[in-house]
Amino acid sequence: MGNQILYIEDNPDNMMLVKRALESRGYVLLEAFNGINGLDVAEKAEIDLILLDINLPDIDGYEVARRLRGSGKPNLAYVPIIAITANALKGDAEKALSAGCDVYMSKPINIRELWARVEAFVPAPEKK
Ligand code: MN
Repeated sequence: MGNQILYIEDNPDNMMLVKRALESRGYVLLEAFNGINGLDVAEKAEIDLILLDINLPDIDGYEVARRLRGSGKPNLAYVPIIAITANALKGDAEKALSAGCDVYMSKPINIRELWARVEAFVPAPEKK
């Protein structure tokens, strides 16, 4: 099993936080700063898990999830997706699940929750 995680997120502070947190556990983080670029990376690289921000500058995270799930490619249709929602109380979470995401987390990102949710899908390569 691989250890490559794609994070689709337009906020550089969140990107840096998650990159550090996951690399410290031995994962490899691929970065995409908008939805279209994220889909492109997902097509071209071997991705084991996607972390998906909902509020993106081009297409939103729901649309990213729908396009992945609607893709004819099994690796994209079935890759685990963790949505990261800013407005869990406004129905984002339910919308993320119905768009095809497997689980969701609320912002602000809690590192321990992140590790636990990621590990539920992709075992940590090494703990430092
Ligand atoms: Mn965002």
